[in-house]
Amino acid sequence: CGVFGIFNHPQAADLTYYGLHALQHRGQESAGIAVSDGKRLKHHHGMGLVNQAFSRDILDKMDGNMAIGHVRYSTSGESLLKNAQPLVFNYSKGDLAVAHNGNLVNARIERDVLQQQGSIFQTTTDTEVIAHLIARSKKQRFEHAAPDILSRIDGSFALVIMTENQLLIALDRHGLRPLSLGKIGDDAIVASSETCAFNAVGAKFWRDVEPGEWILINENGIETGRFAKKEEMSLCSFEFVYFARPDSVIRGRSVLSIRKELGETLAKEHPVEADVVVAVPESSIPSALGYAHQLDIPYEMGLIKNPYAGRSFIEPTQELRELAVRLKLSAVEEIIEGKRVVLIDDSIVRGTTIKRIVKLIQDAGAKEVHVRISSPMVRNPCFYGVDMPTKEEMLANRHEQEQAMGETIGADSLAFLSTDGLLEAVNIDLAETNQHCIACFSGAYPTHLYLD
Ligand code: 5GP
Ligand code: SF4
Ligand code: MG
Repeated sequence: CGVFGIFNHPQAADLTYYGLHALQHRGQESAGIAVSDGKRLKHHHGMGLVNQAFSRDILDKMDGNMAIGHVRYSTSGESLLKNAQPLVFNYSKGDLAVAHNGNLVNARIERDVLQQQGSIFQTTTDTEVIAHLIARSKKQRFEHAAPDILSRIDGSFALVIMTENQLLIALDRHGLRPLSLGKIGDDAIVASSETCAFNAVGAKFWRDVEPGEWILINENGIETGRFAKKEEMSLCSFEFVYFARPDSVIRGRSVLSIRKELGETLAKEHPVEADVVVAVPESSIPSALGYAHQLDIPYEMGLIKNPYAGRSFIEPTQELRELAVRLKLSAVEEIIEGKRVVLIDDSIVRGTTIKRIVKLIQDAGAKEVHVRISSPMVRNPCFYGVDMPTKEEMLANRHEQEQAMGETIGADSLAFLSTDGLLEAVNIDLAETNQHCIACFSGAYPTHLYLD
């Protein structure tokens, strides 16, 4: 998911709309905005893309000088309009809107406790727990209650919460998800999952939100504090591999340059003699460029993506799914025919996507297809908000050897980036591996999981 918030700007809803556009890659299932004119919240949600959920008419009615927004992709709770965020509530202390990126690992336990105390939940999301905790807090005022309840939730959360006249921004104690602050001029403050949204709204990057930090913004100014001791940071490394947009900067590191470096390291670890390097667009293009550059093999646009095609893995039958891949991607014969092709992808989870793409390249006449993956094998589920299938469905858990995996996807060879290679590219001290979460690759989770 992606979250956005803005304080003290006359076009708060419009800018949130633009911000969400820039964060669209983080969620395409639903979009929502809540805006405040200082007295009441107004909100609107819709299914699909930001421009499907909102029209000029709707935005024109959303006046106010503070707003928060959300684009959703569901990892907890079904893909339903009632689960679309920001979740908006009216409670004893006024109006409340909550937008959350991440996944709370103790949501079910807290939900049970709250339900026993009489809470009636309206959605099936983990996020709703946050609103109930605020509403039930013994602290009367929002500015005291909201920071106070953050120590009760665990897992990943980049949060923006709004009342009629206050904005609260917070990041989980592990810093699992990215969250940055920006400024427009001297007066307006923005918060965003990724810095790419700052460019879209004319904001300047100010600083990142620290793990375990909350920031309260209201008419009195900005107040910050901590709800947790500064723990070892474990920022999600998958953000760099696949999730984030390449023009974003996360914790001072350009996603684009890290992705190129992943490709260069992959080339050093697993070189291959070939005529052309081809990327699976879009997310693998930078690492393919890095791979090609390192080995001095030409990079070519051997696969073209239809920008209007939807997501392929929701099609119901095998036949339709294969057709969907062909709608989405097309191989350029002129580039591929008779060639030894290195095909670069960012990650393999089930292996179904890459298998179809290998076939596409072979059908276009490739002599050999060597698949190189710019991340290690995904073997473990993510509990922090990135959608993953069960362990049994993961290609890496269905085979002992890389060679057998390669045969399954129909490639002449297959190789993955090493875990050290990933950690080196994201530039951290290898002795302190928990500056980045690599749990889906390594199985070492940075939080308690509350599984029974
Ligand atoms: P699979 O190997 O499961 O067929 O597909 C993995 C590919 O799906 C990766 O290349 C990744 O880029 C893409 N992908 C798109 N959305 C998601 C997602 O929500 N989770 C994961 N794990 N991969 C995704
Ligand atoms: Fe990111 Fe993987 Fe950790 Fe999930 S388990 S937060 S996807 S690195
Ligand atoms: Mg992909």
